[in-house]
Amino acid sequence: GYSTISGIPGVRERTLIAVKPDGVQRRLVGQIMQRFEQRGFKLVGMKMLQASEELLSQHYQELSRKPFYPTLLYYMTSGPIVVMVWEGHNVVRTSRIMVGGTNPSEAQAGTVRGDFSIHISRNVVHASDSVEGAQREIQLWFHRKELVDWDCYNHNSTYEL
Ligand code: UDP
Repeated sequence: GYSTISGIPGVRERTLIAVKPDGVQRRLVGQIMQRFEQRGFKLVGMKMLQASEELLSQHYQELSRKPFYPTLLYYMTSGPIVVMVWEGHNVVRTSRIMVGGTNPSEAQAGTVRGDFSIHISRNVVHASDSVEGAQREIQLWFHRKELVDWDCYNHNSTYEL
């Protein structure tokens, strides 16, 4: 059961991944989720919503003075997004690698951005950039009750117990 493995450092680490409006419009939600599933991460929360400007201004609070901030908020509120919480060992760092660089021109092929996008302001996906940032973002986007704590029956195929 889960209690057996919870002692492994970082196995219960969580991150927030969001498919942005361009990713939803382009029907990329399934392909993006598939990458996290096949890697072995565990989905513990997911919902689709039209984000409010208020929520996004909290989410992107550190960017509020950047020149691209107003158009970023406009774009992020332009259509529905899919927000997810993924759990696993080093998930914050590994998902940043899976997502690729902020600017798709510099994102490696094989990453989500490197495979599905061209322009920095339409880069398909969000991934938390630190463990603390992830905790803050998860609290911002999800109620506690919306996160599902479930046992993966084949956990020892992903982790050494
Ligand atoms: N962004 C943009 N223009 C820029 C830099 C960033 O439109 O010059 C957008 C882009 O969608 C990016 C988001 O702002 O994903 C947040 O920027 P950050 O630097 O936090 O990059 P991320 O963590 O998303 O890679």
